[in-house]
Amino acid sequence: MTDEASTASDAAAPRERPSGLSKNETLVWTAMAAADGPLKAYEILDTLKGQGVRAPMTVYRALDGLEAKGIIHKLEGLNAFLLCNHEGPHSVQTFLVCERCSRVEELEAVSVETEIAPALKASAFKMRTARLEIKGACMDCAA
Ligand SMILES: [Zn+2]
Ligand SMILES: [Zn+2]
Repeated sequence: MTDEASTASDAAAPRERPSGLSKNETLVWTAMAAADGPLKAYEILDTLKGQGVRAPMTVYRALDGLEAKGIIHKLEGLNAFLLCNHEGPHSVQTFLVCERCSRVEELEAVSVETEIAPALKASAFKMRTARLEIKGACMDCAA
């Protein structure tokens, strides 16, 4: 961890583009980094139309690639995608989803992983990924 990483929690801080992305993954990543919340695939496609991306399949493939690299997460409940705010890929993902303004925040919840690990071991189940979408009201909406 570097000193710059200490500002990573600041939502206004510019994100550093990950290396090793394909051209289309870079376009999708840039569109997502400019948005201040989760985006649906068709919203990303709309944003990229001016840059010559017209096929939905192009966007879906890029999203699959970014998800496989652990750079973005898919929010099943919202059918949308969010940039990961962690330092590296992680299999257990926890999100706070506001049901009023649709704001989504990724939560650092290491204890969730710690809690399910023994149960997984007992059932001999090989986990690939787990997503927890915690629904409710964000700080602004609850006030
Ligand atoms: Zn993440
Ligand atoms: Zn809200």
